[in-house]
Amino acid sequence: MNDFHPEQALCETRREFGEHGGVTPSISRSSTFTVMDPETMPEIFGGIRGPEQGGCFLYSRHFNPTVDTLARYLSAMEGTEFAVCTASGMSAISCTLLQLCKNGDHIVSSDTIYGGTHALLDELLPQFGITTTFVSPSDTAAFEKAITPKTRVIYTETVGNPTLKVADIRALSKLSKAHGLALVVDNTFTPMMISPARLGADVVVYSMTKYINGASDLVAGAICSTKALVHQLMDLHTGRVMLLGPTMDPRMAYDIIQRLPHLALRMREHSRRALAICRRLEELGVPVVYPGLDSFAQKKLATDLINTGYGYGGMFTIDCTTRERADDLLDELQNKEDFGYIAVSLGYFDTLMSCSGASTSSEISREEQEKMGLSPGLIRLSIGYTGRLEKRIEQMERAVRAVGLVKR
Ligand code: PLP
Repeated sequence: MNDFHPEQALCETRREFGEHGGVTPSISRSSTFTVMDPETMPEIFGGIRGPEQGGCFLYSRHFNPTVDTLARYLSAMEGTEFAVCTASGMSAISCTLLQLCKNGDHIVSSDTIYGGTHALLDELLPQFGITTTFVSPSDTAAFEKAITPKTRVIYTETVGNPTLKVADIRALSKLSKAHGLALVVDNTFTPMMISPARLGADVVVYSMTKYINGASDLVAGAICSTKALVHQLMDLHTGRVMLLGPTMDPRMAYDIIQRLPHLALRMREHSRRALAICRRLEELGVPVVYPGLDSFAQKKLATDLINTGYGYGGMFTIDCTTRERADDLLDELQNKEDFGYIAVSLGYFDTLMSCSGASTSSEISREEQEKMGLSPGLIRLSIGYTGRLEKRIEQMERAVRAVGLVKR
């Protein structure tokens, strides 16, 4: 376990107060900002004279005070120099990869990633001359073997969607440094719990649509990295965030700012409940996969990567083997037991569950799904923290019994 405390780092960063001494930050909704001295305009436009150098904010697609406050909090939490917020997790990922790679370049990626990212790498980026080799996230040697002279990026999710395979971030960092590559890590499943930049990742990307926001009411993303990379992303001539324009609205930034202070509490409770439910499922002989169970194949690695005190996360899977039985279990859990919702996404305060092969991994071919160990009957659950835990365990037990998944 690591001794980094993201919630402490977040707490120690300069707090932004609102106008009139408000304890909450003000929402700066202006798209443009007044330049008091016209002579300073070229320097402000060129990014040389920002608000901290006696200039001002210019235009909200460049920088916005409220969105910047969120970015500052995120970089404190991740232990990175800087961050930039985007309109979605996908825009954070696509802008990062398009910034780091050009026509002719190559990426080595984990094969166990969100279906949208898989489609980006496998179907869209080749149209821009950027190709990807997919390997198992748990096989560091396979990443090394796949590196070519054209490789620029190693890409992985910390805990892979949906099968929860863990990537050895420290080993991948060593590998990427030895070959002069950038290690890009999607940490959407494990904010607070795992701090990839502290383990050697060069770029940490997030879908803040999930745990970081936690209320399933908005779509947002972030890129946490060095000042140099964020400046490249915001460059007036070639910056992918600047020119492709996935700008975050300051109202979204405000909402997320207000939810960051309880992210650590939420992650602990998601983890506590997921572990208790999984332990019961395991006792019943249900095929459950959860990084906090002793039976989890990579428990040692997971334990080595996590920050002390946040548990093993809120995500687990149940393999029902067939799509039909998965649908039966989802139906029991939602429509008979009121355990949670059949919905994609994760990180909500209520439980969300879906059959991954037929939903968030459906962009990946059946053959590739099989290669990455994704069975057609696999249900991914994002465990919420509403209701009494004992009652939730009873609901789950009745549902798995009803569909014949109980072996003991
Ligand atoms: N990364 C992961 C691990 C995801 O699960 C998702 C969406 O489900 C994304 C990225 C994409 O995020 P967004 O929907 O915010 O664009």
